[in-house]
Formats: sequence, structure tokens, C-alpha cells
Amino acid sequence: MADSKTGELMEKIVSLSKRRGFIFQSSEIYGGLNGFWDYGPLGAELKRNLKERWWKSMTQFRDDIVGLEASIIMHPRIWEASGHTSTFSDLMVDCLLTKKRFRADQVEPQNGIAYFFTGAADPQGKESKDAFSVLVPRGKPPESARKAARQFYEQRGIQNPVLQGERSEPVENSTRYNPENGSLLTEPRPFNLMLKTYVGPVESADNLAYLRPETAQAIFAQFKNVLEVSRQKVPFGIAQIGKAFRNEINPRNFTFRSREFEQMELEFFIRPDEAVEAIYGGVAKPAAPGHPGEPQPNWGWRIWHQYWVEERLRFYESIGLPRNSLVEYWQKPDELAHYARATVDILYKFPFSKRDEKGELMGEELEGIAARSDFDLSQHQRFAGKSMTVFDEDLKAAWPKLSPEKQAELRQCYAEARTKYLSKTGESPDKAKALGQQEADALTKGYYVPHVIEPSAGVDRLALALICNAYCEDQAPDDKGKLESRVVMRFHPRIAPTKVAVFPLLKNKPELVRRAREVYELLRPHMTVFYDEAGAIGRRYRRQDEAGTPFGVTIDFETLGEQGPDLKDTVTLRDRDAMTQERVSIKDLPSMLSAKLC
Ligand code: ATP
Repeated sequence: MADSKTGELMEKIVSLSKRRGFIFQSSEIYGGLNGFWDYGPLGAELKRNLKERWWKSMTQFRDDIVGLEASIIMHPRIWEASGHTSTFSDLMVDCLLTKKRFRADQVEPQNGIAYFFTGAADPQGKESKDAFSVLVPRGKPPESARKAARQFYEQRGIQNPVLQGERSEPVENSTRYNPENGSLLTEPRPFNLMLKTYVGPVESADNLAYLRPETAQAIFAQFKNVLEVSRQKVPFGIAQIGKAFRNEINPRNFTFRSREFEQMELEFFIRPDEAVEAIYGGVAKPAAPGHPGEPQPNWGWRIWHQYWVEERLRFYESIGLPRNSLVEYWQKPDELAHYARATVDILYKFPFSKRDEKGELMGEELEGIAARSDFDLSQHQRFAGKSMTVFDEDLKAAWPKLSPEKQAELRQCYAEARTKYLSKTGESPDKAKALGQQEADALTKGYYVPHVIEPSAGVDRLALALICNAYCEDQAPDDKGKLESRVVMRFHPRIAPTKVAVFPLLKNKPELVRRAREVYELLRPHMTVFYDEAGAIGRRYRRQDEAGTPFGVTIDFETLGEQGPDLKDTVTLRDRDAMTQERVSIKDLPSMLSAKLC
């Protein structure tokens, strides 16, 4: 639970987000819609900047990744193949009194005295045998439990109920009761998070479709097409940014858990380790913690996984999230999805994160980086009946040069892995073994289903992390030099919604305004610029501090040459964080500012 201080901080962040136009509640004029959010003028720029940064870092600055933009609604079989239809669910519980729904794993454990009732009857003899119980804090009179119980039986048609079979016992760390009113919750049951719709004019089971709950599956489904047109060879990646939808049981923590959100996902396809070993005579594994350096052809899945964890951490640091605000959480074996070999979650220490026993924020997930083996492509190969194998010239050439022992060892290892996968899909042991052998034969000729490393990040969670990280209250001098409190959003210039604000010192001096408009037009093609002439200059600075604008340019009488020719055509450049002011020539502004933004 967030303590009162962090709760207060979140309230300030939520209120600033609305007041300054970062984030609004969706459909607010109709009372809002739980789990849906809109981004206002500043939020829209912030989000675009961070998506752009991710996209460029993945595609423009790399030779080995290409992009994809797939449709949101796809063939429903995709979700059968991925497992979402059968297993993409959370356990939910309902309050037996108010019907309020909770995610079972989010119910806080509670202590107290539980009062149990076996049923109730009304004076006419009408009876309910439904058992019910209520948890009340120690020391609280039993009457409050009885009142809740009477309410429960009244809802079941028993008027003026006389409670039956009351007994009580102390309870510790129980998650069976509604933390808000102590009422018993239903038993946990699965709830599929996919949002359904119908395609076409007939609402029938045949036309059922889903709004995608993740963008990744489209990448797998289009893997062969992309491979064909992009002239890439494994190892290579496909990146995608797009909307995803999950009917979350309990959207909460502002935008952190929403029902509509955006993801930035990369599927990076690699050779199976057996192929790497056959080609390079060995498989490079991580030698030490940290970034392993430039990718090498002999890398196995472990080092590729570590590489992507480190790359992603570098990305977050590059847009202003300090390393100590992030947590690298390695999922424990019992937390891993059955097909995953390793998953690292990158957590950000949100103000609402839980705290550990030392009082440190533990962090909440921004991104998961999973080594998913060849599970996804194999699933689509089975469900669509289309081959997802690639042909690897180097493997074909290397295989005959291996010793017979090495060939047998690698073949055996690969056959075992494939048999294991096929057995899990429900094939009989004999068939799984025979198919596994066939696939191992194909490997010896250069064919395999690629493995994948998947860094999967949420845009909205990242935007929220950046807003939380940027929020700062400090003191700055007003127009008369007196210190006053200010709220300043310390966004990294790279992702700041507005890069620079341009101010004429006075709005009633036409020459100052004219020059300021010229500077505004000069900078516009290069960056987002905000022009502001309203109010005292100190107040205008404050407004930009709250918007997180890193630079301010003021056009004053020196600019006009009124203090001599030396300062003519120069402006004051104010730095939001250092609060320094330097004189800069107008003609140097575009290049100087652009350099600070790249
Ligand atoms: P969580 O455990 O928090 O529900 P997840 O492990 O189910 O998340 P993934 O399926 O790995 O999440 O999705 C990848 C990323 O998508 C997450 O790291 C997160 O940034 C984002 N994401 C997932 N669900 C939501 C949501 N309901 N609202 C906002 N972002 C989300």
C-alpha cells in the first residue's frame, strides 16, 4: 500500500497532469470510463517523443532490426496458437456483499476476528442456508459483523433475518475478505482479459474476434513475410509499436494499469544454440555481468538475453531515468512462463510501489525481457500449418565438417528439445519423438525454427515513469529576485514535450515582439517551440517549468542593440535546471539547441 506521503505525491502528479494537459480521464464529461486515458497537448508530445526515440534506437540506428505495423484485430486462431484464448486470465474474486471485483493477487492480507454464519431465517420461516462470514478488526464489537451478515441475507430475500450458527475465530494474513468492508469474497476464478468484438454485421460465434492483448503475436504471424522482403538473416529483429487492450479486472495507479495502452515490442530472432555451436565450434556465454559489447556471431541465447537487458537499461538512462530508479528483477524459476528460459523485468520505483522491509521502493514493471525459445514460431507453425523454419547457409556448410561425435551430440540435444516441446503440445510420446527426430534431421541440412528474445515495454507506463521522475518542487527567484516555490518537471531535453519557449521581454514593445516572432519561426522547423508573451517574465518561466520545457529564450533590449552593438542580435538562453542565463547569438541558436536535444 502506498503510504500517505507517496499517496500525496501521486495526487500532486495526477492533478498536475490534468492541470497542465499531460493526461486527462477518458470521456470525462460523461463521468469517465475506468481504465481509459487521454493524453493532452503536453502528454501527446511526450509520448510521441519517447516512441520516436525507441523506434529510432531500434530501427534507424541498427542494421539488424526492421519495423512492422500490424492490424489490431487479427485472425482469432492467432490467439489460440499463442495460448491467450485458453490461459490469458487473471484470478478474480468478488465481494459477496457489494459485488465489487478484485484481482485475487491484489487483495491485501488482513488480520482480525472472522465471524461465521451458517444461514439465516425470517420470522415467517423462509430460510437461506448460504454460509457467510465477515472479518472485523480485533477489538471491534461483533455487531458490525452481524449487520453486514443481515445485509447479505436480506439481499437473498430474507427480510428481518435471524442469523444462524454464529461462531468466531481469529484470522491472520487472510486474503479471503474484502479489505474495504470485511465481507467474504468468492473463491478465486479465472477471468480472460481479452476484449471481444464481432467482425462483420452478424454477432455470432463464427465472427468473434479480439482486440489484441499484445502486439507481439503479429510479429510472429508476419515473420516469414518480413524475412522474405527485408533481406535480413537470423539473427535479426522485428520491432513494432501499437495499441493493446486488456480487460483488466482492477485498473489502478493512474495510467499504470489501463485497459487500453500502447506497447513497444521487439522480437529478436536468434539461432538455436546447437546451430551456433555447429557453425562456430562453441557458444559464447556471458563472461561477466553488464553489457557484453557489440553482438558477435557466436553468441548463444544467454548472452543475447543479457545484451538486450543491458541495451534496454541504457535506453532508459538515455531518456533520463537514473539507474538507481530502476530495478533489474530476474524472475524465479517458478515465476517463469513454461516456455521461457529466462525473463528479466525492468521495474521503475513508482511512488505507489510497495516497499521492502528496509522501506525501499521495490518498483513496478516497465518492461519484460524474455528468452522465449522457439515456442512462438513453433506454435504458429502448428496452428497455421505453415513452415516457420529458416534456411541457414552457414549451418548447412558447417555441418559436414563436424566430427561424427559432435554431429550426434548436437543432433541429440536438438531432437530432445523439440520432442519436449511437441510432448507439451499434447502429441503422444511416440509421435513427439518421431517428429523431434525429423526436425533434428532438418537441422543437419540447415533448417530450424528460430529462437527469440523479446523486450516488451509499455509506452504509457514509461510516460508515467517519466512524469513521476520529472516531478520536482524547489525554489526559484521571482522577478524581484525573491525566492518562491516552484513545481518543475525535469524532463530530459530529449523527451521534453516542448523543447524551448520564446519570450519577448515586454509584449507592448512591437520591436521586441517582432524579433521574438522571428526567433520563434527560426527555431520551429527544428524543434517544438512555445511562444509566450503574456504576463511577467518570471511567471512565464514558471509556466514553462511546470511544462518541463528545458530552455527559455528571452528577447530583450540588448537584442535590439539598445545597450550597444556587442549584444545586438543576441538573446538570453535560460536553462531550466541550472537556472543559468547566457547570452547567445540568434544565428547560433538552432545548432546550439539541436545539439542539446540529440
Ligand atoms: P503486469 O504483470 O503488470 O500485468 P505483464 O507482465 O502482464 O504486466 P506483459 O504482458 O509482459 O505485461 O506486457 C509487456 C508490457 O506491456 C508491460 O511491461 C507493461 O509495460 C505493458 N502493460 C501490460 N499490461 C498493461 C496495462 N494493463 N496497462 C499499461 N501497460 C501495460
